[in-house]
Amino acid sequence: MIDPSMKPLCDQRHGEMNRAHIHGFGGVEGLVECFQCGDRLCGRVYSEGLGYREWVQGRGGGTARPSAPRCKAHPEHWMYVREYLLDGKLLYACPENSCTHTVTEEVKGRSRGVS
Ligand SMILES: [Zn+2]
Ligand SMILES: [Zn+2]
Repeated sequence: MIDPSMKPLCDQRHGEMNRAHIHGFGGVEGLVECFQCGDRLCGRVYSEGLGYREWVQGRGGGTARPSAPRCKAHPEHWMYVREYLLDGKLLYACPENSCTHTVTEEVKGRSRGVS
């Protein structure tokens, strides 16, 4: 079961994301329960089944970064950013309620899309 209290942060700008229902996100039929970046200029969307993606209304959901972390115990889940650490790393956590797996990832030096 997905942790109902999880609050993902944006993997690009590290701001808070809000719960959203987006029609057709990631090419999925119907409404997809997901989180969207609170920064309107960013538009990043996360769902545990689709990962972090760019979202442009009417143009589909982009693609997830293939190297973004997935949980070892729950490979069907993309991990979400739980915390932006002081040393410039991102702490990713598994969205599964009972799962304690985390991964830290270096942000600096990572190639980023132009925004
Ligand atoms: Zn964002
Ligand atoms: Zn897990």
